[in-house]
Amino acid sequence: MKSMSDSFSPAPGVPPGQALETPAVSEAVVKFKSCRWRRPPEDGPECCGHRDVLPIAGTSFNPEAWCPDCAFFKLRRTPKKRSAEDYRY
Ligand code: SF4
Repeated sequence: MKSMSDSFSPAPGVPPGQALETPAVSEAVVKFKSCRWRRPPEDGPECCGHRDVLPIAGTSFNPEAWCPDCAFFKLRRTPKKRSAEDYRY
């Protein structure tokens, strides 16, 4: 029996040498950084300081796991306008 797909195309539609556009910082991290419950690195490990999140998530905080679906998110009041550039590592 002859195989129907005997040639594998790794990424159809994407020309070789051209990577898919990936944001420098994920949406979860952007949300985390703009959340008023974020505990700044000056106060210890950077994590979520919300009273309903911190006891569960702890200080080894992973924004990817928490922030995207978080209902506690509150935009922090920023004294100056920040651009996405500030969040690059
Ligand atoms: S888990 Fe929720 S409250 Fe905590 S930093 Fe992320 S969005 Fe904010």
